[in-house]
Amino acid sequence: MRRNRKAKIVATLGPASSSREMIRRLAMAGADVFRLNFSHGTHADHKERFDIIRSLEAEVGRPIGILQDLQGPKIRVGTMKNGPVELVNGATVRFQLGSEPGDAKRVSMPHPEVVKNIMPGHAVMIDDGKLRLVCTGCGDDYFDAKVEVGGTLSDRKGVNLPDTDLPISPLTEKDRRDLEFGLSLGVDWVALSFVQRASDVIEAQTLIKGRAAIMAKIEKPQALDRIDEIVPLVDGVMVARGDLGVEIPPEDVPGRQKELIRICRQAAKPVIVATQMLESMIKSPSPTRAEASDVATAIYDSADAVMLSAESASGDFPEEAVAMMHRIIAHTEEHKLYRSLIEAIQPTPEHSTAHAIAAAAADVADAIGAAGIVAFTGSGTTSMRAARKRPRVPILSLSSSEAVARRLALLWGTHSVPTEEIHTYDEMVEMAKQQAVSEGLAKAGERIVIIAGIPFATIGTTNNIRVVRI
Ligand code: PGA
Ligand code: MN
Repeated sequence: MRRNRKAKIVATLGPASSSREMIRRLAMAGADVFRLNFSHGTHADHKERFDIIRSLEAEVGRPIGILQDLQGPKIRVGTMKNGPVELVNGATVRFQLGSEPGDAKRVSMPHPEVVKNIMPGHAVMIDDGKLRLVCTGCGDDYFDAKVEVGGTLSDRKGVNLPDTDLPISPLTEKDRRDLEFGLSLGVDWVALSFVQRASDVIEAQTLIKGRAAIMAKIEKPQALDRIDEIVPLVDGVMVARGDLGVEIPPEDVPGRQKELIRICRQAAKPVIVATQMLESMIKSPSPTRAEASDVATAIYDSADAVMLSAESASGDFPEEAVAMMHRIIAHTEEHKLYRSLIEAIQPTPEHSTAHAIAAAAADVADAIGAAGIVAFTGSGTTSMRAARKRPRVPILSLSSSEAVARRLALLWGTHSVPTEEIHTYDEMVEMAKQQAVSEGLAKAGERIVIIAGIPFATIGTTNNIRVVRI
C-alpha cells in the first residue's frame, strides 16, 4: 500500500499506544516508522511493541521502520532530603559530587565528569531550561553556581550544560544493555542521544557492526560545531529540538533546523525534525495554528520525516495526532508554492557517476512524464541518492534485503518494498515493471525510469539508467 505523500511520519510508542489495536490505528492513520524510546519503559514493554509492529506489516502492506532511541548520557541532579526546594534568584548553590540527598543550598550531583569539566562562566540549565544558573567556582568534588532564573527544583531533574565539553561516551552502561537488547530484537535504526563528536559515532559503530542504521540526534552545540565530521559517519540525523532548544537559544533553533536539513540533503541522508510539533495535542484533539505551521515549515524545508513524541506516546489523542500530521503534510505538499520552496534548496551537484545518474532519473522522469522512478538498491544508497533530488514523481525502492527495505521507510518520497534477489538485467526490468504495477506506481502504457548499480552484487554503486514502458 503506497502513501500519497512524500514526507514520512515517525510516531513514538508509549503507554498511550501499546495495544495492538492502537499501534495498528497509528500505522493506518499514517505512521511510517515507530520510535521505541528507551528513556522510558522496560525491555518487556519494548519487546511487546516491537513484536506487534512486525506482526502488523503484512496487514499494512509495506515495511514499517523501527527506531530504537537510546537515552544517552542525560545528566540529572540527585534527590532532595525533604522534597522539592525553591532556588531563589541571586542565591549561590553548591552542586556536591555524590548521591547524598540535598537541599536548597547543596544539590546532589552524581556525575563526576560534570564536576571535573565545568568551568566558571558555564551555564547550568535545569528542568528543560526552566531554571538557569551560572557556574561561579569549582572544587575537587563540587562546583558553585549562582541562580539567575530561579524556581522549584525536585528530585532527578535533567541538567543541560551547553558550554561544557564533556569527555563522556554517548553510550552509558544502560545504553549498552539497551542497545544489545534492541539489536537482538532486530531494530532497523539506532538513535544516539547527545552525540558531541565523530568518535562518539565510531564507538557506536564498533558495537552495532552494521546490524542497524545509525542516527545522530543533534541536540548539543558541540555537535553543531562538528557537524561536518559527524554527518559522513551516520546514516541519518534527527534535529532533536527538545534538548537543542535548551542548549542553544530558542531563536537559534529554526535556522539550525534549516541548516541541518540542507547538510543532510547534500549528504543524501534522511533527516527527521522532532519534538513539540503538535505538543498541544497531548491534551487537545486539535493543534494550535502555530503547531500546524511548524509541521508545514519542516515540510517546506524538505525534511524526510516529522516526529511525534508524547503526542503519540502518552497523550490523550495519539491517533488524532498522527492523522493531523498526515493531513498537514499532504495539504502542504499540494500547495502551489511547495515545489518552488523545496527546489530552493538544490544540493550542489557531485561529480560522481552515482549522483549524476540518480539526479538524471528525476530529470528524465519529468521530461518524459514518467509515472515514477524504480530504484534497485542493495544498501539503500541508490534510493537515498534519488530522494536527495526530491523528484516530483514517486520513487519505488526495491531491495532484496528486508532490513534495508525497512530502514528506507524513513526516506522522503520513497515507497520501499522488499523483493526477491535479481541476477540479470532482464530480470531487473521484468521485476521493475511488475512491482510498479502491483504497488500502484504505474499502469499499462505508462513509462518508468529504472536506476540501479550493476553488477548487482556490488554494493553502493549507481551506474545504470533505463526507461521502459509498461
Ligand atoms: P528526547 O530527544 O525526546 O529523547 O529528549 C528528542 C529531543 O531532545 O528533541
Ligand atoms: Mn533529547
